Amino acid sequence: MKEKIAVYPGSFDPVTNGHIDLVERGLRIFDRIIVAVAPSVKKSPLFTLEERIELLGEVLGGNARVEINVMDGLLVDFVQRRKAAAVIRGLRAVSDFEYEFQMSLMNRKMDPAFEAVFLMPSARYTYLSSSIIKEVARFGGSLKDMVPEVVRRRLKEKTNRKG
Ligand code: ADP
Repeated sequence: MKEKIAVYPGSFDPVTNGHIDLVERGLRIFDRIIVAVAPSVKKSPLFTLEERIELLGEVLGGNARVEINVMDGLLVDFVQRRKAAAVIRGLRAVSDFEYEFQMSLMNRKMDPAFEAVFLMPSARYTYLSSSIIKEVARFGGSLKDMVPEVVRRRLKEKTNRKG
């Protein structure tokens, strides 16, 4: 039977336990997940594209069903090229909905075959976002249970250097 592939796009600046939770859920539905890291230059990321990919590799690279890749260009093109069945996105709260809805409809306008699957994280991760993590890290708050240990260390290095 043909393998079902999903693309999980995002900035992952940096990867959090919420992202990992979503990948684990996605793997229960799909055979393979391609984590597609967008350069997200407009968002002025804290971690470079290479650093974000490296951290994802350390955290998820051990799973043969997960691939980590750069996504340059349009998501619809990437999805077509990789013959993926769908895109995975997370819905934490109603506030995510409007943006996701707009993006999905735009993607479907460009490619009528575009499908997105929205997954809810475990309740304990619904408040987590990469930006809130960076904010807490900047002021030296505890990141316990929010990010993997390697990410916590790298955040500490980054924010110390800056401060
Ligand atoms: P983007 O810049 O595309 O929003 P992010 O790295 O912030 O990239 O997020 C990628 C995807 O992961 C988005 O669909 C987002 O909703 C989802 N996501 C991020 N954090 C969580 C979380 N704590 N729980 C569930 N989904 C999440």
